[in-house]
Amino acid sequence: MPESPAAPPLFKRLALIGIGLIGSSVARIAMERRHIAAEVVANARTQATLDRVLELGIADHVELDPAKAVAGADCVMLCAPVGAYAALAEAIAPHLAPGAIVTDVGSTKQSVIRDVGPLIPAGVHFVPAHPVAGTEYSGPDSGFTTLFQGRWCLLTPPPGTDPAAIEKISELWRRCGSMVESMEPAHHDRVLAIVSHLPHLLAFTICNTAEGLEDESRQEVLKFAASGFRDFTRIAASDPVMWRDIFLNNREALLEMLARFMEDAQAMARAVRWGDPSFIEDSIQRGRVIRRNLIEIKQA
Ligand code: NAP
Repeated sequence: MPESPAAPPLFKRLALIGIGLIGSSVARIAMERRHIAAEVVANARTQATLDRVLELGIADHVELDPAKAVAGADCVMLCAPVGAYAALAEAIAPHLAPGAIVTDVGSTKQSVIRDVGPLIPAGVHFVPAHPVAGTEYSGPDSGFTTLFQGRWCLLTPPPGTDPAAIEKISELWRRCGSMVESMEPAHHDRVLAIVSHLPHLLAFTICNTAEGLEDESRQEVLKFAASGFRDFTRIAASDPVMWRDIFLNNREALLEMLARFMEDAQAMARAVRWGDPSFIEDSIQRGRVIRRNLIEIKQA
């Protein structure tokens, strides 16, 4: 159930470690309604980002040193690329307040549990999470308060995690407008490999394929991009560091889904080569059903 408008803040002090698209969207929601945290502290890798955060007015304080950012925070949310998590966790671990909850928004979950879990001190809770919502934009200017509205947030708490800590992070995401579900981390990584990581890999690759064409054809690609290619270019505009880290940290599941995709693409190629219209039509038909189902469940 969504909370009443006057609900008291869930946390006293929320420290956002990384304040790009995801962190700044959480910050905007927390600052606007004050129902998530009484105080919001933002940390980033560069002072330029923190200066911009202050200009935008989307945090109460900024702090360049992650260790100082987490001091006194009862909720710490890692919102940096997943490849940076191990170093960040090492930097903040000795400074975490007893009873604090460490959570994250990373797009891969087994790697986060592997990299961050062992560094969490006794008496501090760890509730990994992944809001399945995003755009191709990054940085503190790109966030917005409705980003998580009606979208899923998947929690992958390790066995034995304090149920009260899980409930508080679930409530945080509900207050951001999300629907919350818990999942095994390995299952999460397989599901996300097909619904998000593989499509990004294909988009980056197809844009590279177009880029590799000889000059004249490349001009035509841009000129006539409306016919399908344009949709790939949107996700291919996503941040390279973030996606490099996702691919490397969900290696096995991504490679498995890619292998399956290549088999299916080979089958389609064979049908095209040998002129098998019913196979081609059938494959397209099955793809359309997925799209229709997505529209029906309002996730399109
Ligand atoms: P983003 O817009 O690129 O912002 C990243 C933030 O992390 C910046 O504030 C950056 O600081 C900071 N940072 C700290 N250490 C860093 C390092 N070593 N390398 C790069 N940046 C570092 O990223 P985002 O899109 O919000 O993504 C953040 C996390 O959310 C990622 O783990 C991603 O997997 C996950 N996620 C993303 C989406 C999406 O669609 N974008 C969706 C769901 C989950 P500076 O600005 O000072 O560099």
